Amino acid sequence: MNKTRVDRADGRYIYFYAFEAPAPVVLAVDEQMRGDARIELRWNALLGEYVIVSTARQGRTFLPPAEYCPLCPTVGVDAFATELPSPSYEIAVFENRFPSFRPDAPAVTDEAALHGRSSANGVCEVIVYSPEHDATLGSLGAKQVRRLVDVWADRYAELAARPEVRYVFMFENRGKEIGVTLTHPHGQIYAFPFIPPHVELEHAQSERWWTAVRRCLACDLVADELASGERIVAVAQGFVAYVPFAARLPYEVHVAATAHRESLLDLTDGERDGLAELLRVIQAKYDNLWGFPMPYTMSMHQRGTDGVERPGDHLHIEFMPPYRTKDKLKYLAGVETGAGTYINDTAPEEKAAKLRVAEPRT
Ligand SMILES: [Zn+2]
Ligand SMILES: [Zn+2]
Ligand SMILES: [Zn+2]
Repeated sequence: MNKTRVDRADGRYIYFYAFEAPAPVVLAVDEQMRGDARIELRWNALLGEYVIVSTARQGRTFLPPAEYCPLCPTVGVDAFATELPSPSYEIAVFENRFPSFRPDAPAVTDEAALHGRSSANGVCEVIVYSPEHDATLGSLGAKQVRRLVDVWADRYAELAARPEVRYVFMFENRGKEIGVTLTHPHGQIYAFPFIPPHVELEHAQSERWWTAVRRCLACDLVADELASGERIVAVAQGFVAYVPFAARLPYEVHVAATAHRESLLDLTDGERDGLAELLRVIQAKYDNLWGFPMPYTMSMHQRGTDGVERPGDHLHIEFMPPYRTKDKLKYLAGVETGAGTYINDTAPEEKAAKLRVAEPRT
C-alpha cells in the first residue's frame, strides 16, 4: 500500500492510496476554498452531551448530477474540478470541506454557567471507496473491500495518534432516505474530541458486565449468538453477522469480531479478509432482499483513543436500515425520540431468518 499526501491551499489534506497502480498524477486545478463558518461544541446541560454547531454544513453539495460529482476523479486540468485532483485513484481520503470538526477550530469560552462551549477541535474525513461513481460496498470486488479495510486501519492509526482525538468514529450513510447528499460510494470518519454518547453507554454497560463476571460483554454476546444460532445471518473468518436479541430496528445487523479484538489494528490478515467478506455479503443480502439498494447507516465501534483502558472495547459494526417492510420506512417518533425507547414491530429471529436466506447478489 502506497500513500501520497497532497496539501491543498485551504489547509486540507488528501491521501491517495495506491495498491496496484503507481502513485496517481496530481493535477493543478482551481481549488474550492473551505469557508470561514461558525464551528463549536455546545453543551446540552439537560442531556449532559455536546451538540456540534457547524454552519458551514448548510452549504454542502446536495445530490449533484453525476457529471458534477465531487468524489469522481478530475479528468483533466480544464475539466470540472472535483475534490480529487487526479484522473485516477484507487481509494482516496480527504478532509471534509463542510466539517463538523476541524484541526484549526477556533478556541471558544463559555457564555454562561448553563451555556458551556468547547472547541470543535478534531478532524472530519471523507473516504472514497472507488473511482467508479455507481459502485457500492456490495458491488466492489472482494479485493477492493479488503483494501478498504486496510485504509480504515491506517486512518484509525493516524487519527488515534493525534492528541486531541479521543474517539475515531468510522461510518457510512447510504441512501437518500437517510439524507445522503452524494451517491458516489464513500464513507466518513469523524475524529472526535470527546467520546460520543452512544459509545459511552456501551462503555458503561461493558464495565458493569466486567465488574460482575470479569469477561468482555461483547465477547459473551457473540458467544451466545453463536451458541444459539437463531439470529445469525452469516459468518466469515473471525467475524459473525447477526440480528441482535434486542435489535432496535427490524433489519438491524451487527458484525462483530468473534475473538476479543479492540480495534482494526488487532486483526490478523485472515481476520481482515473475513471482515471484508462479511461486509460484502451483508450489503449484497440487503440489496437482494427487495431488489433495490437498502439504505442504512453503518457505524464502526472500536477502542477509544483517549488512553483509557476499558475491558469491554470490542470491534463491531452496526448496520441500521430504516425500512421495516419493502415499502414502509420506520420513522423515529415520540417514543423513540422523546422517551428514548425503541419499538420493534417484528421478532429479530424472523428477520435474521429472512436475511439468512436472502441470496447475495455478487
Ligand atoms: Zn462520482
Ligand atoms: Zn471482547
Ligand atoms: Zn456498538
